[in-house]
Amino acid sequence: MNQHLKQLIDLSFVDKEIDAFEPQIEEANYKYEAALAKKQSIDSDIENLSKEIRDEEIKKNKNELHLAELSQKLSENAKKSSEIKTEREMKSLQLEEEIAKEQVAFANEEIERLERIIDAKKEQVEAAKTALAELDANLESVRADVEKKLEVINQARQEVFQKKEKLISTMNQKGLTFYQKIRRWAKNTTVVPVEEQACMGCHMLLNDKTYADVIKAEEITTCPHCGRILYMEPNKE
Ligand SMILES: [Zn+2]
Repeated sequence: MNQHLKQLIDLSFVDKEIDAFEPQIEEANYKYEAALAKKQSIDSDIENLSKEIRDEEIKKNKNELHLAELSQKLSENAKKSSEIKTEREMKSLQLEEEIAKEQVAFANEEIERLERIIDAKKEQVEAAKTALAELDANLESVRADVEKKLEVINQARQEVFQKKEKLISTMNQKGLTFYQKIRRWAKNTTVVPVEEQACMGCHMLLNDKTYADVIKAEEITTCPHCGRILYMEPNKE
């Protein structure tokens, strides 16, 4: 077999090996990233709840202010009742007092209702903070675990990189450039075997001349349909 072709086949296997590390790295990172995402989600829950609590407290304050105004009004009315001269005046004062008392009752109910909401939300914040503290305590060990896994992967990857460098150093620049040009679009199918006279990259049938060239393997042959580099697997000749 042509030496350059042999080198390109070897290189394509090394490149495949290098690419195979990517999903391993992603998988290792996933656990830590998932923990971080959870942390961010709890952080934003706490932020939202705190904002809701502030809003409910503003509403509660408004009701309390209203309550203070009403009680002032009621005590003023009590004073006025001693100065009343006509029945009409008395009726009007009684009516005002009734309305004010109704409003007092309503404001009190509203304050109670808001307090219940605020308490429930505060409990939710506390629960979220507890979950966050647990997560924080865990995060460091998750990170350490991920780093250990990445270190093992990186070491293995480094070895493959070295293998690739060694291989490339023996190759001629022209063949390498040719390979890289195809690899840009064909990725891990840059160099493909031929099976049953078909290119295993595009699955098109090869003409007899190309097929014979691939079998001879005296030079680098590319698929006339897709342009990938072709070779014959030894046991399939
Ligand atoms: Zn093809």
